Amino acid sequence: TEEELTLLEAQFDTEEQDQFGGLPVLAIIGRPNVGKSTLVNRVLGRREAVVQDKPGVTRDRVSYPAEWAGRHFMMVDTGGWEVDVKGLDRSVAEQAELAIEQADAVMFVVDANVGPTSTDERVVQLLRQSGKPVVLVANKVDSDQQEAEAATLWSLGLGQPWPVSALHGRGAGDLLDHVLSVLPEVSAVSAPKPTHGVRRVALLGRPNVGKSSLLNALAGSERVVVNETAGTTRDPVDELVEIDGRAWCFVDTAGIRRRMYKSIGADYYASLRTQAALEKAEVAMVLLDSADELSDQDMRILQQVVDAGRALVIVNNKWDLVDEERQRALRREQERGLVQLQWAPRINVTARTGWHTNRIERALDDALEGWSTRVSTGRLNAFLGELVAANPHPVRGGKQPRILFATQVSSKPPRIVIFTTGFLDPAYRRFIERRLREEFGFVGTPIRLSIRIKE
Ligand code: GDP
Ligand code: GDP
Repeated sequence: TEEELTLLEAQFDTEEQDQFGGLPVLAIIGRPNVGKSTLVNRVLGRREAVVQDKPGVTRDRVSYPAEWAGRHFMMVDTGGWEVDVKGLDRSVAEQAELAIEQADAVMFVVDANVGPTSTDERVVQLLRQSGKPVVLVANKVDSDQQEAEAATLWSLGLGQPWPVSALHGRGAGDLLDHVLSVLPEVSAVSAPKPTHGVRRVALLGRPNVGKSSLLNALAGSERVVVNETAGTTRDPVDELVEIDGRAWCFVDTAGIRRRMYKSIGADYYASLRTQAALEKAEVAMVLLDSADELSDQDMRILQQVVDAGRALVIVNNKWDLVDEERQRALRREQERGLVQLQWAPRINVTARTGWHTNRIERALDDALEGWSTRVSTGRLNAFLGELVAANPHPVRGGKQPRILFATQVSSKPPRIVIFTTGFLDPAYRRFIERRLREEFGFVGTPIRLSIRIKE
């Protein structure tokens, strides 16, 4: 009914709005085993390890909504971060840097029984440089006797150490009261900046595919000076690039510009970067190296885009290295490897010379249009009605689920709910998705199909 539909739309609209956009972000950093996860769980009031609600992004999303004394904020836990054996210090520092960049305030956790280590000192430097509010937590202070050990942490020069026992809750209330006093009411980092119609692009790809070359080719000498574009605010890590007289915001380009991270290639770190960029972007441009085979890392990045529900353009870079033989092989590889992503516009470019980079704008526009597409309930049901009449769901165990009704509840990306009388075969769902794409376009965008079974 009309009423049900309105309810449904309202429900999904709240889901769709980034519920957390604008909430202040508190990052928890510190070496492994100092008790970060325990502290997060303490704040969230949960005992068990925090679980992920989104399949496919088990470890790279580490933000949780939290509440204390009636105030809401986001906690970003770095507990899942892996530390690689070789470059332990460096890796911790990098991860900390990323967390600090994306936080409004930082909770720096040290194990009071161990005291500060050389790694901690490096992180302290980063914290000081950031100029962000820092709360120093001396954890594992389970009793009064241990308070003295906490006091030694004054030596870090980060102000008062807050003695707590994340495990038992000792001191946690005072700590959180203090955290709230330094956390801004409204985030300066988490909400996408209003860019007044300037679309936000994440430029992604594994190291050496040519991201910085492409960014340079696009930005060239025409790099837009921020204050020339009236009313446009942005993060310092974002870059405004003018393509054919129109400004685009390339988000989170710091990681692209900063070459020192390249050699490290810590996968987990890279995937956090990707995730961070995707959160801010509307459309992702994923670069592939045409001279190289499609790699697992390429696939992971593409999957991250789909999971994040962003529009997608695939760019085959280094086309100058592709001869006829390679071109045939590449086509075969991509037909097989990217079969689930047939909907994404694909363009071939040579970042080094700028060849075909003028095709990028069109592809981005197409993808953004597909991403924003809204199909009316009338059109959707007329189409599905005919489709299902001509191709009914196969009978399973004497039963045949019927499709009752469908509606697109939101866009960016398009989200369609189908009401049925029973579970639909995955193959049949894919069939429906494919036909929906053929009928309504949906170029360059993932589609979220959900099934609601009505008795
Ligand atoms: P993380 O790696 O920083 O996330 O650390 P965890 O939260 O996983 O904690 C590492 C270990 O320290 C676990 O065995 C915890 O039970 C323990 N731990 C955490 N907080 C406290 C505390 O306040 N007191 C004591 N005694 N142990 C703690
Ligand atoms: P990033 O790590 O993704 O930022 O990659 P870079 O832009 O630093 O490029 C990595 C290497 O690939 C550099 O040596 C570039 O000169 C080279 N490269 C980038 N684009 C092209 C291209 O279109 N053709 C060729 N032949 N080399 C390229």
